[in-house]
Amino acid sequence: AFPHLFSPLTVGGVTLKNRVLSSGHDTVLVEDGKVTDDLIAYHEARAEGGVGLIVVQVAGVHETARYTTHVLMATDDSCVEGYRRLAEAAHRHGAKVFGQLFHPGREILESRDGSAPVAWSASATPSERFHVMPRAMTGAEIREVVDGYGEAARRLREAGLDGVEVVASHGYLPAQFLNPQVNVRTDGYGGDADGRLRFLREALASVRAHTGPGFVTGLRISGDELSHDGLTAALVVEAATRLDREGLVDYVSVCAGSSATISGAVHIAPPMTQPAGYTAPLAARVRAAIGVPVMVAGRVNQPQEAEQIIKEGQADACAMTRALICDPAMPGKASEGRTEEIRACIGCNQACIGHFQRGYPISCIQHPETGRERRFTGLPMPTRRRRVLVAGGGPAGLKAAAVAAARGHDVTLHEAGRRVGGQVLLAQLLPGRAEFGGAVTNLEGEARRAGARIVTGSRVDAELLDRAGADALIVATGAVPRRPALELLDDPVVLDAWDVVRGTADVPKGRIVVADWRGDWIGIGVAVQLARQGRKVTLCTTGFGAGEHLQQYVRAAMLAEAARAGVETVPTVRPYGADADTAYFQHTLTEEPVIIEGVAALVLAQGHDPVSELAETARGRVGEVLMAGDCVSPRTVEEAVLEGLTVASSL
Ligand code: SF4
Repeated sequence: AFPHLFSPLTVGGVTLKNRVLSSGHDTVLVEDGKVTDDLIAYHEARAEGGVGLIVVQVAGVHETARYTTHVLMATDDSCVEGYRRLAEAAHRHGAKVFGQLFHPGREILESRDGSAPVAWSASATPSERFHVMPRAMTGAEIREVVDGYGEAARRLREAGLDGVEVVASHGYLPAQFLNPQVNVRTDGYGGDADGRLRFLREALASVRAHTGPGFVTGLRISGDELSHDGLTAALVVEAATRLDREGLVDYVSVCAGSSATISGAVHIAPPMTQPAGYTAPLAARVRAAIGVPVMVAGRVNQPQEAEQIIKEGQADACAMTRALICDPAMPGKASEGRTEEIRACIGCNQACIGHFQRGYPISCIQHPETGRERRFTGLPMPTRRRRVLVAGGGPAGLKAAAVAAARGHDVTLHEAGRRVGGQVLLAQLLPGRAEFGGAVTNLEGEARRAGARIVTGSRVDAELLDRAGADALIVATGAVPRRPALELLDDPVVLDAWDVVRGTADVPKGRIVVADWRGDWIGIGVAVQLARQGRKVTLCTTGFGAGEHLQQYVRAAMLAEAARAGVETVPTVRPYGADADTAYFQHTLTEEPVIIEGVAALVLAQGHDPVSELAETARGRVGEVLMAGDCVSPRTVEEAVLEGLTVASSL
């Protein structure tokens, strides 16, 4: 299957066995700037799954490149050993390995311990997103960093990697030099197109000079930074054309966006609101202008999409990075035509880039084994096959059933509703959230293929427990919407957000106030939904703003939707009552009343209460009772799925 995607590709002097790659992405599986055993296990799982090329995450080429506290560094020879072990692990499975050479310039996050370096850039032009005012580099500093690219490349070659790419994407340092809106230098590194290209040209030449023939040198660049003052597609094509003509690059890897603005940064890991493969036309423009292979990244989730992009000549290889985070075995399954077994990424960003932004190790909400390979791979199998009942077919129950069945147990999952999926079935009905439903399809498929039986319309109770004679019960009975005690006078219309989403609530015309507690999908989602239906909507949040609990890019996309739909927001308020046409709130900072008049209905998104009675009923009836998901404590799908995995792994 997929003959174009699974044909070899020669890049420089190196032949990739197929055209699926894992592009460079931060993992937080780094310690003291070095490769860890966890990072090796993470990449080895993808190599074992059949990926053709692994591009290891960015490595700083100079001390001023430490843009987070968990960035890899290639500034001295002590990095070689870790990279060597990583390369050997990937090579064992036939994958090639490239490294990324990196300097962020002005795109430096504040460090947690106050030790972030002074930001160096082409000019003293501030970054809008991180609020950083950099310092213009001197000629000597430029030479130092240029030399750093070469020295780092030499180390990575010594470690046995097959190549490196210079990261000029997403508005990082080389892009800052290229960009006339950032680079206002008047010396030889600024001015016209040739001057602005000089830094990148010298960095690539330094890599070539320090590594010699046979070692691949690539360029990673945003085909368009899609930002108000970012690099345009025309400037990028021009730069790539010149570098190709000068023989400085063996391939160009095209992505989109810029770290400098939030609207540009969204494209670093585009959320599910972006269409699949939307950056392919940018790659195609570069490919039409140069002679070396072009790779593309940008929500290429499925092998069908990648095959099409390559077949149409838009790119020579596809970065399917989140597809591999979600399912490391995806290339093998695709090449064997087992596409229905692929656990497709849904673009939620929660545990991959979302974890990076919060400073903890990479994972996947659907596949919590990611980033935890050493903890969950090769667990000892149980000595005895047990009869396991799972009560509840939400994400926690489905994952628990899948894992228990894969461990050889006799598993039956009972779901009281007509369909499995729990709250995900509702979440997928919200604007921009349709793909979320894929998580249910994936988890259900995983459970069934592992041999679990799924019975819908069946509630586990005392009688069923006595009849089933199970050895173990996993309670995953979920949660119900929480209704805080509010002072209600004169019969106000008060509705639950989930009933509104479900379409079972009778929402009046007129002004609707949504009272959101958690700052996740429900409050902002229901507000956008109602506003799109033509209602005047006010979204009141307990926290500092709407969607506070969402991953930054997903939040940005949702806030943009809310702005377009005309949703008005009122932050830092908690609801305390309502009457026929007024909603009463209290400011969480001043404790003053906040009164909203002319209200037709108050919609509550105030979190959930766990449903856990079954655990009590089961004690004494079943040998072992375990609990997973919202019935323990209501929280995210990610936490529920991890708990399902953890609980079932103990059986
Ligand atoms: Fe995809 Fe979400 Fe998993 Fe990230 S966490 S890999 S976006 S499914």
